Amino acid sequence: MPLELVTIPCLKDNYAYLLHDAETDATTLIDAPEPGPILAVLKQRGWHLDQILLTHHHWDHIDGVTAIVEATDATVIGAAADAHRLPPLAQELREGDLVQVGSETGYVLEVPGHTVGHIAFYFPTSGYAFTADSLMAGGCGRLFEGTPDQMWASLSVLAALPPETLICSGHEYTASNLRFAASVEPENEALAARIARVAKARAENRATVPSRLAGELATNPFLRAHLPHIKASLGMPHATDAESFAELRRRKDSF
Ligand code: ZN
Ligand code: FE
Repeated sequence: MPLELVTIPCLKDNYAYLLHDAETDATTLIDAPEPGPILAVLKQRGWHLDQILLTHHHWDHIDGVTAIVEATDATVIGAAADAHRLPPLAQELREGDLVQVGSETGYVLEVPGHTVGHIAFYFPTSGYAFTADSLMAGGCGRLFEGTPDQMWASLSVLAALPPETLICSGHEYTASNLRFAASVEPENEALAARIARVAKARAENRATVPSRLAGELATNPFLRAHLPHIKASLGMPHATDAESFAELRRRKDSF
């Protein structure tokens, strides 16, 4: 049985996720933007929260930690690299470390770029990757701390996961991300179809996350920076993949 996944809208456009293992009753939260909606879901489901996994130090991913810990006594786990600027951690994680949700094991991937200490969690058995502000639906996080080379390397690691993986990212930015994508690839039919699906979902106030990696590979320009026709359309046919990615990210910042 895969872990049960609950997507929780928080703040203006953030998402937190709950993972629940029915067999052992274990429950894990990934990121804590604010306590209210998360505690409400826990109460409604009758789940007891055991641990909180943090992806990175930005306030909109950690502001709810203190209140949620007070209410649940959950253990807080996050990146060793960011231990100095995260809430107090019971466990500090590095590349390749393991986390446990009941009977299922997750892998820690270091995915610097948005911040230098950003990590992702990959659960191969259930097929979930919690990517927060690294790989996002239709886009990727802004480079606040890391370099384009770092982010391209991080995205390349995530792109190599099985295509059926569900990408659980941190924000509802999909519609605007895809508007930029269409400016890069106006002829991409999979992208046009996705734009229509996303518009419908948003009109019905449904989340556009998680998203399937296969769909990201087909429509997310930041996973497609290596493709010759993208480099050509950027006017840089001989650029390296990372240079092409850097130019896409630069254009998106002023789009
Ligand atoms: Zn962030
Ligand atoms: Fe964020």
